[in-house]
Amino acid sequence: MDFKGKVAVVTGAANGIGRATSAAFARHGAKVVLVDRDEAGVRAAAGAIVQQGGDALHVRADVTRSADVKSYVGAALAKYGRIDAFFNNAGIEGKFSPIAEYDEDLFDQVIGINVKGVFLGLRHVLPVMLKQGSGAIVNTASVAGLVGTPGIAPYVASKHAVIGLTKAVSGEVARQGVRINAICPGPVDTRMIHSLEEQINPGDPDSVGARYKGSIPLGRYATVDEIANMVLFLSSDLASAITGAQYVVDGGRTATGGAVTGAALKR
Ligand code: NAD
Repeated sequence: MDFKGKVAVVTGAANGIGRATSAAFARHGAKVVLVDRDEAGVRAAAGAIVQQGGDALHVRADVTRSADVKSYVGAALAKYGRIDAFFNNAGIEGKFSPIAEYDEDLFDQVIGINVKGVFLGLRHVLPVMLKQGSGAIVNTASVAGLVGTPGIAPYVASKHAVIGLTKAVSGEVARQGVRINAICPGPVDTRMIHSLEEQINPGDPDSVGARYKGSIPLGRYATVDEIANMVLFLSSDLASAITGAQYVVDGGRTATGGAVTGAALKR
């Protein structure tokens, strides 16, 4: 996976999966544009890449605002002249709450960031890639885009929508040299999964984590670097025949339907 001379743009780059993937792109030779609404975080993430000898630019942007999206695309073009890889990744989990009690404003935020944010990224990055006649996009969905997890219905709906966008749009641009895929991580060891553990059982979040892990055949959450590996593969020329697809990285959980596995079986 050689990204020398290539330019990668990553949203949600200040933390978690986006930050690790930005660093991985840089380690593999890419110039990286890190985008996030968390200004201090995204500056620090880009600074860490530069400190390691990489080339990186950070842009503070809210992915739900088209002016901000235009400005991160413009900044990438002004500094590096092209966009070869786009990791359309920023997202929020919303709240763990039954839909009968779900806050309407929060519903709008979840859909706004997870769906409209992904749409705006496609809307403004695709013209650049179509003009180049090349490019690879990876949208962050989730296993919540494949199955329905009760308690986080707006998040589930948003991630199903990301898969829908990926499937439909991949067919619009494939003949023009642009590939679009989605990744479906299961639980990954970041702030997001720990926030859900805390919401489900504020008194004992670790017990929620233990239960989750008991339903993952590998017996653990994925690491951010394991998600980054999949993103880099799909963004690379090794994946030249892959478009419109969704790739699960979940330690086997979806395959076994969340059934209890491993040592937990004997309890
Ligand atoms: P995270 O909270 O650590 O990182 C998300 C980043 O997105 C943060 O830096 C945040 O500031 C940024 N962000 C949020 N809203 C934004 C906005 N409007 N504009 C710009 N930036 C914004 O979470 P993470 O686990 O790294 O999540 C990254 C993606 O992976 C999300 O789309 C999430 O839904 C998805 N995902 C995570 C898991 C998991 O278990 N952690 C599982 C499946 C999918």
